[in-house]
Amino acid sequence: MTGQAKHRAATIVGNIPFSFNEEEFRKLTHIDLSGPYAKAITDLLEDALATARPKALYKVCYIDNRTEDTVELEGIRFTSRVLSRNLSEVERVFPYIVTCGTELDTCLSAETDVLARYWLDGLKEMALRTAVEHLKNHLAEEYGLKAEKLSTMNPGSGNKNVWPISQQRQLFQLLGDVEGAVGVGLTDSFLMMPNKTVSGIFFPTEVNFVSCQLCTRENCPRRRTEYTGTIGLAGH
Ligand code: SF4
Repeated sequence: MTGQAKHRAATIVGNIPFSFNEEEFRKLTHIDLSGPYAKAITDLLEDALATARPKALYKVCYIDNRTEDTVELEGIRFTSRVLSRNLSEVERVFPYIVTCGTELDTCLSAETDVLARYWLDGLKEMALRTAVEHLKNHLAEEYGLKAEKLSTMNPGSGNKNVWPISQQRQLFQLLGDVEGAVGVGLTDSFLMMPNKTVSGIFFPTEVNFVSCQLCTRENCPRRRTEYTGTIGLAGH
């Protein structure tokens, strides 16, 4: 599809419900909340929870143009053969940023105790995961999709040639004033601050895609599926 790119405003998703889940915290941090630090952890996390504001920013975009290894959204070109293949059957996609929020990051920066910083980092990870699920459900409800049929690609995920991390620049450009909207900044080395932040493009698909399929990293604690070396589409 070709034509003049239409620029749409990005939507901020705030007020994301976030509560403490003891089981998830234990899995993330391997800390036993009935152990000797239970009271200290609970007090610290209660204060942090009161200030936590996980949030998301996304856009609805239609593909203006595509080639075998590029996809253009609103006139911005993304270069990735895997992205192009994954989006070969869709016209509408949802570029996004999801973050634990600067509020929790501020709590962590003010803390000097190493253990407390570790606990807060676990809470930030929980906030991020909650916000990602919230955004998926939000997109499903708003756009008549099924949350379980939304897959994502993220710059820098998987082996380095899958979708280079340097393409964060284009993603931020597409989403506009990301820092002003949700407080997320991008460093010169394409890392996002706060650190518990993810960026990417959600797209509907019948064949679920996870970047780990194309990632040879060994012993990754976050691996969600085994390496296959393929993106799972028929004929590829
Ligand atoms: S295996 Fe780990 S590093 Fe590789 S894509 Fe999956 S989560 Fe990321």
